Amino acid sequence: MAKRLLNYINGEWVPSKAAECLPVVNPGTGEPIAELPLSSAAEVAAAGEGADRAFREWRRVPAPDRIQFLFKLKRLMEENLDALARSCTEECGKTRAESVGELRRAIENVEVACGIPLLMQGRNNEDIARGIDEHMFRQPVGVGAMIAPFNFPAMIPFWFLPYALATGNSFIVKPSEKCPLTQQLVFELVDQLGLPPGVLQLVNGGRETVEALLDHPAVRAVSMVGSTPAARAIYSRAAANGKRAQCQGGAKNPVLIMPDADLETTTRILADSAFGCAGQRCLALSVGITVGPVRDAFRERFAEAARTRKVGYGLDDGVEMGAVISAESKARIEGLIGAAEAEGAKVLVDGRGRTVPGHEKGSFVFPTLLDDVPPKGETARTEIFGPVFSLMHAETLEEGIAMVNDRAYGNMASIFTASGAAARRFRNEARAGNIGVNIGIAAPMAFFPFSGWADSFFGDLHGQAEHAVEFFTETKVVVERWPKEWSRQF
Ligand code: NAD
Repeated sequence: MAKRLLNYINGEWVPSKAAECLPVVNPGTGEPIAELPLSSAAEVAAAGEGADRAFREWRRVPAPDRIQFLFKLKRLMEENLDALARSCTEECGKTRAESVGELRRAIENVEVACGIPLLMQGRNNEDIARGIDEHMFRQPVGVGAMIAPFNFPAMIPFWFLPYALATGNSFIVKPSEKCPLTQQLVFELVDQLGLPPGVLQLVNGGRETVEALLDHPAVRAVSMVGSTPAARAIYSRAAANGKRAQCQGGAKNPVLIMPDADLETTTRILADSAFGCAGQRCLALSVGITVGPVRDAFRERFAEAARTRKVGYGLDDGVEMGAVISAESKARIEGLIGAAEAEGAKVLVDGRGRTVPGHEKGSFVFPTLLDDVPPKGETARTEIFGPVFSLMHAETLEEGIAMVNDRAYGNMASIFTASGAAARRFRNEARAGNIGVNIGIAAPMAFFPFSGWADSFFGDLHGQAEHAVEFFTETKVVVERWPKEWSRQF
């Protein structure tokens, strides 16, 4: 029987009393691998109240002492990298190399947060008026909660967790109900850290569990990553309850392919971007806009790259692209390819209806290339979140930039060119928060904020780096005067 997952509350592994469970399925094999309890509001309350109690003491622990737990966590994550990566592949279908890559990104955030004694420094002015000084301190907010998506089960909680912990907050993680296993392993490592009970909590569940977190008064800060409708709903509910929130949403990322781009390199990088993680990355480039005479040559090369990409079970050697997250997702993606056809697109490479020998029950969609996608149609603006690349065409850079900007999402946009002037104009005018110049996945390193815009982000401060430090701290300004005549004279 598949194992039932536990919550980690107040330093102990506890079974949920939830009557209802969801199966967790390995998308590459179709086999159930665990049961996820849908934790109740009472269980969320126990986690919230425990975290709040822990916070009162944790905030007093000096920052140089708090980061010692992060140094230890980094070491444990390095030592257990293989097991964590394997779990990641088993629950979300990506290749082993992709899982290792996301773990490296998770660890980088731990490393950056180890600099908190410097990063959370305040500032001050002496003599803002004669004999009066003014200081700004950063203090932790309280209890933070993180609601995670399925597609980076190891990495995404780490855009927030290390910063929350290091700045003196307690923190609750609610993993994706589709991919909760890697965070179970992470919390087995957390259990070895010797942290005060309640500082880090893990609560499994679905939408109602999230709503209980959003409504619980102990939770002061909400970090969420997921689809745009969920991000919008969570941001609104958190804000209505007086909490600060940062909610990163969905995406549909365009790339301009200029006639002077080196086609061999561009094709290789763009195929990795569009089809890596089976297209289930919020930074995947999914709309290619060829500019000027490069159209036919790029289409031909890219079609070849799509046809020859090796699809298979993520743990098998030589596999370049794994499964999509579920049978429902496969059906949805294949339906959207059909809808694109119905609105006039040509399916140049068709990834529908394919299976991987030996893994017939797996949810595989093969790389798909759509040509002549109508720029104003539904396909051009719908997040497919699968290995489907849509081609469009522009005659000039100006027209291309206008097409890039004609969408509600603003997560990322890229340009491939040998021209500094074209790149510079694009960088300045493209309406997205993460920009790639000859880059397929412009993922900010841990020491930069993950800067989604527009419908890809609800809030003010993003995950990672100084934004995370600001998000997890309140500023306190102190104005002080020490009149000489009030003090004992020495
Ligand atoms: P999802 O929105 O279905 O779920 C994300 C989380 O929100 C889950 O933990 C889920 O339990 C919770 N949730 C979902 N709907 C909710 C609701 N109505 N009320 C309360 N909680 C709710 O997303 P997913 O399918 O797991 O992940 C894929 C999506 O995440 C894609 O749209 C992708 O673009 C996006 N994503 C964005 C980023 C980014 O940085 N912008 C990064 C990774 C993934």
